[in-house]
This record gives sequence, structure tokens and C-alpha cells, in this order.
Amino acid sequence: MSTSISNQTLVHLAEKYGTPLYVYNFNTIERQYKKLQSAFEGTNTRFFYACKALTNINVLKYVKSLGANIDCSSINEVKLALKAGFPAKRILYTSNGISFDEIEVAKELGVYINIDSLSNLRKFGEAFGDQYPVGLRLRPNIMAGGNLKISTGHENSKFGIPVDLLDDILTIVKAYDINVIDLHIHTGSEIKDVGVFVKGIEVLFDLLPHFPHVKVIDLGGGFKVPYKKDEQGTDIDLLAKEVFDAIKSHPNALGRSLEVWFEPGKFLVSECGTLLTKVNVLKKTKTTRFAAVNSGFNHLIRPMFYDAFHQIDNISNENGEVGNYSIVGNICETDTFAWERPMNEIKEGDILAFRNAGAYGFEMASNFNSRYKPAEVMVLNGNDALIRERDQFADLFRKQIEVL
Ligand SMILES: *Cc1c(COP(=O)(O)O)cnc(C)c1O
Repeated sequence: MSTSISNQTLVHLAEKYGTPLYVYNFNTIERQYKKLQSAFEGTNTRFFYACKALTNINVLKYVKSLGANIDCSSINEVKLALKAGFPAKRILYTSNGISFDEIEVAKELGVYINIDSLSNLRKFGEAFGDQYPVGLRLRPNIMAGGNLKISTGHENSKFGIPVDLLDDILTIVKAYDINVIDLHIHTGSEIKDVGVFVKGIEVLFDLLPHFPHVKVIDLGGGFKVPYKKDEQGTDIDLLAKEVFDAIKSHPNALGRSLEVWFEPGKFLVSECGTLLTKVNVLKKTKTTRFAAVNSGFNHLIRPMFYDAFHQIDNISNENGEVGNYSIVGNICETDTFAWERPMNEIKEGDILAFRNAGAYGFEMASNFNSRYKPAEVMVLNGNDALIRERDQFADLFRKQIEVL
């Protein structure tokens, strides 16, 4: 049985559940996880799903059932992961800029923690000394990723403790006898060049002799997936080979058996997701022909926020004559999904499918313009199920307090 979802099925789902609608093919998540597993087979590697990409509880449970671990970027994500059934030892909390209270809670819950500031490292030492193992989120001063907004390892980035502050790190670690077991970096998103990960290994291995208890090298996430038809993603087989070649041949690794951790978010869930929208109106101007859909950056902000490209298909008219259309939303803001994009002829009422919308799609959705967040549907082995209801009117003022 084919596990991809046909356009005909997508149109059927749009009719069944209404639009706008996020559809996730869970079999694609499995396919992506298996790619990682087979590329890294026989190596000492663990994968932590960076769940901020998509946190629907069913996605978390499914990822858990595949055998993956989970990486969280807030204490609430840690609690969601526990709710989804992950044991504490499969949960990693990679923090940035957080209050020390959250680290105390994470320690109480027994999860792995990566600390990203000298200030929190000192507080950690004062509170727990050598009682609880901990990781350091470091900033390696490497420029990587699709664009500056999603690049996190460069020298103007807020993320991590800059590696040039090694002396200060060591002073604190020694003062409190802190048990550092993991060195972490995450340099950005959409990193196609596996050389970036090899560079990261070099930076971390330079530091290794200073941290005798380190057992884990965590290289973060950021694997690229293809958004355009002829685009290439990160070559995972090559990544596995280069990473382990670099580790094997490194003199500082001798005598230590290191585990390698990765934190893929987008790689696991981007391609599983499709946002289905309906064309409200067609409008012709002097410069272009607009197709306005019943969505906007309130549902999928990546095109506007990151200038991201999403493939858009008119699945109601797959064989229609191709012409250029500008695909926009219905929000009172400029919310252009695509400008002058070749599309099969569009009529009002047609269903447009936005591909590759699983990661940072619904997760970054809002109620801007007092519009409803979309519903979410899971498809697994060809069976569909609603996994989040569409908002209703009452949801828009559920937390408001009428005092007048
Ligand atoms: C966001 C994030 C990731 C995942 O990034 P992707 O580009 O989705 O793979 C991994 N690690 C950390 C610490 C992150 O903040």
C-alpha cells in the first residue's frame, strides 16, 4: 500500500473536515526517522525530536513509538513530552535565555538539561554542585543556516555560551565541581552543508580535554529538507560518514567512547504536513492576478517571516492550463504566499495545497484578525482522524475578562 496521500484524498479531506486544514501524514514521519536510523546504524547516536516544530500530542506519541527521544525548548514542552509518555531519560531541555526557575523544575523532573548562559551555570553550581549531570549549550561562532533569522551559532547570536569564554566557564565549573557530561551546539536551520557539522565537531573536540566527564557531543538539528522540486536536502548518509570519520580520526577522542546526539525538528515533520486552503476570490490588477485563499500568515507565517518557499498546488484542477498567479491570504496585512507563481488554472472554490507545512506551520499560527486557528488531521496507514478541532467563536475571548 502506498503511504503517500493522493491529491484526490486531500480534496476529500478538505470536504470532510473543512478548510483551512493541516493534514499530517504520519507515515512520512516514520520514513524520515528510518532514514536517520539506517544512515547512522551501528554508531553510538541518539536522535531527539526538536518538538517546537510541531507539538500536537499525537505527533509526540507517534515519534515516541518510533523510538526517538525528544528535545524541548521550554519547560512546558518538557511537560508535554512527559504527558505524551516519554520517560525523563528520553527528554532533553535545551534552554536559551530562560529564568533559573525552569532549570530547577527540569532538574526536579529528572530530564537532561543544556544550560546556555554563564549566569545560569553559576546558579546551577550554587544550587546543585556536582549532584546533577548537565550539558553546556555553546556558541561555536560558526555561520550556518538558510538565513540570518534562523542562524544561531554566529558571533552576534544570542544563543549559547560563546566558546571564547572558556576560561570563565572553567572557573565556574571548577568552583562548584559541576558534572558536565554534554557539550552542545545548534548552529541554525536548513543546513545543507555537512561540513558545518564537521566544523562543529572540531570546535567541541578542542574543548574536550577541559571536560573529563563529557560523554556526549550534541550537534543540534537544522537538517535541510527540499522545499522546491529540484532542491536537495542534507545528505544524511554523507553526514553520518563525515561525522564519524571526524570523530574517529580526532586525537582528543582517544580513550573515550562518546555518544553523538542530534536534534532534528524540521527533518522529521516538515514533509508530513500539507495546509489545505480554499480560494475565496480571484482579482485581476494591472500587474498580476491574485488568488486570495481563506488563510494567511495567521496560519502559515514562514513565507512572510523567512521569505520561505512553499510549493503550492491547485489540487482541484491538476490538469488545468498553467498561468501565473499571486497567492495571497485574507488578512488585513500584506500576506503574500507566492508572487507570480505558475499554477494550474484557478477558479474560486478550488483547493490549494501548501506542501511541506508540517514544521513551524500550525505551531506558529495565531488568531490575528480574530480568525480561527485551523483544524489538524492525522493520516496513518491511509486512515484519517481529527487531532485538533478548529477554533470556535468562544475561543477568541476565552481568557478575556469583561469588566465593563
Ligand atoms: C529549533 C531547534 C532545533 C531544530 O531545528 P530544525 O531546523 O527544526 O531541525 C534543534 N535544536 C535546538 C536547540 C533548537 O532550538
